[in-house]
Amino acid sequence: MSQLDHRPTPPADVLIKGAHVLDPRAGLDARLDVLVRNGEIAEIGTNLESADVEVIDGEGKHLFPGFVDPHVHLRTPGQEHKEDLDSGTRSAAAGGFVAVVAMPNTSPTVDSAPILRSLREAARREARVPVGFMAAVTTGLQGEALTEMAELMEAGAIGFTDDGKPVHRAGLLRKALQYQKLAGGIIALHEEDPTLSGKGVVHEGEVSARLGLEGIPSISESTLIARDAAIARYEGGRIHIQHLSARESVEAIAEAKARGVKITCEASPHHLTLTDQALLAKLDTRLKMNPPLRTEDDRQALIDGLRTGTIDCIATDHAPHAREEKEVPFEEAPMGTTGLETAFAAVYTELVKPGVLPLALVVEKLSAGAALMDLPTPEIRVGRPADLVLIDLEATWEVGEAGYESRSENSCFAGRTLSGRVLTTIAAGGIVYRERAFSVVSA
Ligand SMILES: [Zn+2]
Ligand SMILES: [Zn+2]
Repeated sequence: MSQLDHRPTPPADVLIKGAHVLDPRAGLDARLDVLVRNGEIAEIGTNLESADVEVIDGEGKHLFPGFVDPHVHLRTPGQEHKEDLDSGTRSAAAGGFVAVVAMPNTSPTVDSAPILRSLREAARREARVPVGFMAAVTTGLQGEALTEMAELMEAGAIGFTDDGKPVHRAGLLRKALQYQKLAGGIIALHEEDPTLSGKGVVHEGEVSARLGLEGIPSISESTLIARDAAIARYEGGRIHIQHLSARESVEAIAEAKARGVKITCEASPHHLTLTDQALLAKLDTRLKMNPPLRTEDDRQALIDGLRTGTIDCIATDHAPHAREEKEVPFEEAPMGTTGLETAFAAVYTELVKPGVLPLALVVEKLSAGAALMDLPTPEIRVGRPADLVLIDLEATWEVGEAGYESRSENSCFAGRTLSGRVLTTIAAGGIVYRERAFSVVSA
């Protein structure tokens, strides 16, 4: 039984002709035609013909397996002025994502089976792409009592997280890992020691000193990762570390992996492409997120982590906030940036185009989150459901110029010119996105 829900879409019948098909897992890296029949990949080859299907011209474009994001905030229930299941999954589809996993820090918190069930029902009416839901580790994210994990897994939770907050009490995480043995499900961790983060609003270092802002030190993240890796090792549990931001954290993960801990982790496009230097140019609240943008050295460590496999996947941590919430003094603004619509283009523009990372690695990391969440990984293979994204790598566009599919516009990339436009997204066999009339800056 799938834990993913979405609004049914008519199964696609299309022939994508002449695109450069790149799927490292399926061993594809060539100019090919892909025929989709009744929502399934029916044939992959050259000079395919089919009289009764729509033909999409893929000439000069790239076709990838659709992306999967294991970490998004869809703000439903309770904060629909920021995002809802429809707008959030439209944003996902526009970014080439064919499945997303939503965090439970909503109001109310997703911490009981009835709340989870009604959310899943809503997704079956409203979600454009398949959505999975995480449940909270502790009731109300209060860090005091564990949720009914087995019941939540039965109701279809992907796993558990108190994202937005750490599981501060070590004993409680230990207990959660003991229940995990019975209930299953990944435990995803937002690592931050509140006694070290304090009232920090940016990375603690040169930039925070120059701006006179309170800092969040890297050790706030890395010390809790080390602690939780030790607990997971002791209990034989499986943990996933969210939004890695610092060199020390990459080192802590590498050490834990070397010791055989069942630990995986993610990095976000913003931490991979931006640093706190950006704040010196403009103290823009769209650049305020948790964990904060850190230094160039940290960014290089994250890039190396992707290359070596210490970092398992790319996740956006898409965190929409309404304009009036972000248009306040920097110290008071909520933390978070949207990310679904810019994920591929940001990483492609900043890391692939300059030759820092190979395109195939980035494509793989953009869907690698699926397996970590025990979800099927999209692959371009005959017989598999069509989960595809067609992208024009040459097309450049200005972020935000034509608006967003997301209800919120707090993109940390706003105003930047990026390369790589999503043209078509096919998720779970149905066409869920066709390029809007974005004005093209230059081609
Ligand atoms: Zn978080
Ligand atoms: Zn988050």
